[in-house]
Amino acid sequence: MKIIDLLNNDKITISFEVFPPKKAENLESVRTATEKIACLHPSFMSVTYGAAGTTAGYTIEIAENLKNSDGITVMPHLTCVTLTEKKAVEMTDRLKKAGIENIMALRGDLPADGKREHEFEHAVDLIRYLKANTDLCIGGACYPEGHVESANKAEDIGYLREKVDAGCDFLTTQMFFDNNILYNFLYRIREAGINVPVLAGIMPICNKRQLSRSVALSGTNVPERFRAIVDRFGDHPAAMKQAGIIYASEQIIDLLANNVKHIHVYTMNKPDIAEGIMHNLSEILK
Ligand code: FAD
Repeated sequence: MKIIDLLNNDKITISFEVFPPKKAENLESVRTATEKIACLHPSFMSVTYGAAGTTAGYTIEIAENLKNSDGITVMPHLTCVTLTEKKAVEMTDRLKKAGIENIMALRGDLPADGKREHEFEHAVDLIRYLKANTDLCIGGACYPEGHVESANKAEDIGYLREKVDAGCDFLTTQMFFDNNILYNFLYRIREAGINVPVLAGIMPICNKRQLSRSVALSGTNVPERFRAIVDRFGDHPAAMKQAGIIYASEQIIDLLANNVKHIHVYTMNKPDIAEGIMHNLSEILK
């Protein structure tokens, strides 16, 4: 199924992101975790693509497994970072054979040494290629607080508009911990003529280290209210996990109350965290 058809039917969607293993020996445990997450009946699941294309093979492997064993609609990610046109053809042929109809088209984070063999500079170049050569439903990334490399938010939204004009069917946001930032972003992109569905990316922060790592990479603002939670419970793993699940659930409830209908949860391959969120929303999603 094409994800855009799910998004256009006016119902709430809750989707989950998982990531592939870096090493073959972890394939089985990741399969098991992602299958448990699939049992929660998300609207669809996305599978990330390793930084610099390192876990490329496993991305499709995990996506295929979810589709075949759990009947889940899936969306593998693909990044430009080390992508040649030859590799893009191989990847899209494989998706076609597997009956996968969705793809998340990204640039990816640049390698620290700047060295890479690639033929697509920005996500927009990959989106153009996919639109011209495949029938895939294409997702793209967006950044409510601006992408870290952007000179300013206006420039970032200008480039976002180019991605949508090139054929990106919907957008998924980077994580954010303050919903007002998302509401402001949605207002700004709609003003800029970007009218595709936007999925709000929610990252449940369930341990202290995860917060510093995620924030260092993305530059996401951490509101005082959330910082106080991490300061108070960060050294108590079970309490921090519970607080993180509740904070993410509250974010989602506020979004749904404000008519943001599509939520994408970054599960970090943790079935118990995804389950905790779904439990907190059980009546709300009925
Ligand atoms: P782009 O849209 O190409 O933007 C990158 C930067 O270039 C921005 O600053 C933008 O303003 C600027 N820009 C865009 N177009 C142009 C242009 N034509 N000319 C000049 N500048 C331009 N990374 C992974 O490695 N694997 C994943 O699976 C993955 N999944 C992700 C999922 C989501 C929902 C999100 C939000 C991010 C994900 N990332 C992933 C991280 C992402 O790859 C990085 O944030 C990356 O730095 C930017 O990717 P992009 O697709 O947004 O790039």
